[in-house]
Amino acid sequence: MHPLTEQQIRSSFLNCSRKDAARLPMPPDLDALDWDRLDYLGWRDPQLSRRGFAVVPTEQGPKGIVVQTSGVAGTGKQALCAWCHDVRLPHPVVMYVAQRAGTAGRQGSTVGTLMCEGFQCSANVRKPPPSPYKGFDMDAYIADQITGLRARSQGFLAAVER
Ligand SMILES: [Zn+2]
Repeated sequence: MHPLTEQQIRSSFLNCSRKDAARLPMPPDLDALDWDRLDYLGWRDPQLSRRGFAVVPTEQGPKGIVVQTSGVAGTGKQALCAWCHDVRLPHPVVMYVAQRAGTAGRQGSTVGTLMCEGFQCSANVRKPPPSPYKGFDMDAYIADQITGLRARSQGFLAAVER
C-alpha cells in the first residue's frame, strides 16, 4: 500500500467521530513501516487491549475502522481469518466487531469478522504454502493471496459503510 501520514490515517476513519479520530493512538512504528509489504494497516490500542484499528486502501482512498474484540470468540481450531484465510493458524484468530458508519452505527448496528488478532494478514499472505510441489508458481500463488486479502478487506469496509 502507499505510505500514509498520521493526518491521512486520522481522517480515514468511517466509524468514529472526528474528535475520537483525532485522539486515536497511532501505530507505534509508523515511521518505520515497510509499506510495500502491507495490504492494510492494522494495530492494537496499547491502552485498551480489546480495541484495534484497521486502515484499508480503496479506490476512494484509505478507509479506517475502529474494531473491538471480546477476546474469546473464534480461537478454536476451526477459526479462519476471513481476511487472509491463512490455514496454518500461527496465532489466535478473534472476532472483531465494527460499529457501522453513520446513522446505522449510531443506532447500534455492527458488523463482525473473524480476523488475525494482531492484524498479521499481510505477512501471512506473503508466506509460501506449506508444501509446494515441484514447479509450483510461487509468485503467482502469493500474488493471488494478496489479491484475495485486498478484495476481502475492502469488502468488509464496504459492509461497515453500507
Ligand atoms: Zn488474517
